[in-house]
Amino acid sequence: MSLNIQNIIPAIGAQFSGNPDATIDTVSIDSRSLQNNSGTLYFALSGQNHDGHEYLEELLSKGVYNFVVTQYPEQLKGKANFLVVHNTLEALQLFAAYYRNAFDFPIIGVTGSNGKTIVKEWLNFLLSPEYNIIRSPKSYNSQVGVPLSIIGINEKHNLGIFEAGISLVGEMAKLEVLIRPTIGVLTNIGSAHNEGFQSREQKISEKLKLFKDAEILIYAKNPEVDALIPAGTKTWSWSFTDPNADVQISQKGTQLHIHTSQHTFTVTLPFQDSSSVENAITCLMVLLYFGYSPAVIQERLQLLYPVEMRLKVKNGINNTTLIDDSYNSDYQSLKIALDFLENQKQHQKKTVILSDIFQSGWSNPTLYETVAALFSSNQIDRIIGIGDQITTHAHYFSNITTYATTADFFEAYDPLDFENETILIKGARPFHFEEIVFRLEEKTHETVLEINLNAISHNLNFFKSKLQPGIKLMVMVKAFGYGSGSFEIARLLEYHKVDYLGVAFADEGIALRNAGITMPIMIMNPETPSFSAIINFGLEPEIYSVKELHAFLRVAAQHNVSDYPIHIKLDTGMHRLGFEAKDLDTLIAVIKDNPRVSIKSVLSHLATSDEPEQRDFTLSQIARFDLLSSQLLSALHIQPLRHILNTSGISNFPHGQYDMVRLGIGLYGVSNDENETKYLENVGTLKSVISQIRTIEAGESVGYGRKFIASATTVIATIPIGYADGIRRSWGNEVGYLIVNHQKAPIVGNICMDMLMINITGIACHEGDTVTIFGENPSVTIMAKALGTIPYEILTSISQRVKRVFYRE
Ligand SMILES: *Cc1c(COP(=O)(O)O)cnc(C)c1O
Repeated sequence: MSLNIQNIIPAIGAQFSGNPDATIDTVSIDSRSLQNNSGTLYFALSGQNHDGHEYLEELLSKGVYNFVVTQYPEQLKGKANFLVVHNTLEALQLFAAYYRNAFDFPIIGVTGSNGKTIVKEWLNFLLSPEYNIIRSPKSYNSQVGVPLSIIGINEKHNLGIFEAGISLVGEMAKLEVLIRPTIGVLTNIGSAHNEGFQSREQKISEKLKLFKDAEILIYAKNPEVDALIPAGTKTWSWSFTDPNADVQISQKGTQLHIHTSQHTFTVTLPFQDSSSVENAITCLMVLLYFGYSPAVIQERLQLLYPVEMRLKVKNGINNTTLIDDSYNSDYQSLKIALDFLENQKQHQKKTVILSDIFQSGWSNPTLYETVAALFSSNQIDRIIGIGDQITTHAHYFSNITTYATTADFFEAYDPLDFENETILIKGARPFHFEEIVFRLEEKTHETVLEINLNAISHNLNFFKSKLQPGIKLMVMVKAFGYGSGSFEIARLLEYHKVDYLGVAFADEGIALRNAGITMPIMIMNPETPSFSAIINFGLEPEIYSVKELHAFLRVAAQHNVSDYPIHIKLDTGMHRLGFEAKDLDTLIAVIKDNPRVSIKSVLSHLATSDEPEQRDFTLSQIARFDLLSSQLLSALHIQPLRHILNTSGISNFPHGQYDMVRLGIGLYGVSNDENETKYLENVGTLKSVISQIRTIEAGESVGYGRKFIASATTVIATIPIGYADGIRRSWGNEVGYLIVNHQKAPIVGNICMDMLMINITGIACHEGDTVTIFGENPSVTIMAKALGTIPYEILTSISQRVKRVFYRE
């Protein structure tokens, strides 16, 4: 991209101040990106947590010179170019629309409720032998993601594949003008709830707006959709059942039988679950529309592969951290991965293992020169290049080692070459970089608890949206972040500018400090022997009794601190910890004019905020809190923060927000209210693998105590997870189930310490396949109900020997 500012000003309707002759070669919305430079046009977007305008000076000092802002910053007058607009997001979209207009080649626009990203990735794979394709990186399909995707187009591309995702009425029209698809693809419209829409009809109609001017709409024929397609739209449809569809399809296992007016043929897919099959058929329809022959379609469809859409962070050997993006090596996603790498600050040193990049649209010298510049702006310490092309162009890079093939890399591989660093592993599929990840990964057993960091951000924003303006937020990350990982989550919360973290014990707080967390941390249950460490690590104790207060004051005096932040806990009915009304006079007398400590906050805890039938009790607790805390505040003439609400308190008692709330389980996607649960995203998914499969005959038994006796021939799979990992024994004996290949497989017999067995009769699966213990289905809420406990216990019981893997979508 090389654009003149002069042309951009009218395109986004800006007021301008600065030098109109400047040129722009890249666009950024992320102040942290090391890719920002003097040719960057920075759009200062304002989101829920961050306002891009806050970073202007910092960016200026890093050499960024062109800014799209809503207000002209007087103090930076004359120092840079400013394009002042009403709304910076709209300006970004206008900019992308302006940029898009310079290109005229076919564009496939993909939308739907499920399968968008998979269809986009598969179409890219299927069509790439014939086309130079630009596609949305990852699942960049939002109001921000689509313009950023469009901006990746260059002169050499001759086909685009962009996905569009919406959650509100009116959003699709904005994406349509950016993508302007010539070929429309509607993927599965799902049975998912119609959140953000009044009805299913409204949701579907909104999605169809993407295809307003498309020459063709490709979709699965369905009366519900048919009724909403505008008259005059040309369509190309398929169906398993409807004889009016253009293409008739029948499925038998992995075989699809295709019948069109011109061809009758069979294709074999490498899978048979219904959603993958449907996505593959959608791709097949596009290939047919493009005029591909049955022979080519047969050959290519059987090579379809599972799509990994996300960057995974894993623990590697020798204290390394791996960022696994082993199935992807286009230029756009490389930029994203490098920004992600920059934001992972576990280690100083950064290494990238990169394969040849295909389909950039550029000539190879231009491509690798650009990539080398990108690496140098991202301050990558070491590059390992694998492939003929990167080897040929190695001279553009400093500190690169190259190998012609992945096998050559393994030939020279020495595990001691990798230590104390973050390693981004990014390769195109044919290079099989998953094998490199496998070598570099720290080996533990194959059960993992996957934590979706995006879902945490989503849930955080959901609860934030329930707070009145100015209310502060403490997030409880006790018990290892409710079992989900404390350090990684704390870092994310720090990024989201949460005000406080809360943990139960001093050593949890110390671990967070040692991991580099600098934000305020409250310790709920500090024990006297830990007071010294609490002060040394700058942690803030909750004080709940006169005896504890005296003990803390003694240690505070030894350390000679003054105004040390403490939090006063009041007992308003929970009867766990806290000062009662009768203690207040002593508390006031001891603390009044005491220079050692300063009360940062006064809090209490609710006992029944999640039980609607006990609403009166909660109201009485809030009233009592009001009374006691007011007495304290007025006797001491102080204005500390007051807080009493936990997650279900935030949901059910909005009048009790005071100055701060304490969010816990809600962050992890759990609510006591079914209605609210719909708005939350699942955070943790516990997965394992099938170790062994066997068939047993009627009358044979499974496991300790022979609690399962087969009544007919039964296929049994053994999974390496047991009660020592936190799976309760009472979940066994067909009370509970695992999900295998989208189907329920009941747990048969007793759960063992390290293993359990499931009945997989009739489920297509193999040894080594992944199984799900909990996640979206079954949810921990469902599990907890069946087991007569609460989701908190299920989450925090998962043993620390289960590896946690964090990822972003
Ligand atoms: C755990 C805890 C919370 C958070 O409770 P959730 O129900 O998980 O939201 C809040 N305050 C205190 C004192 C806690 O111990």
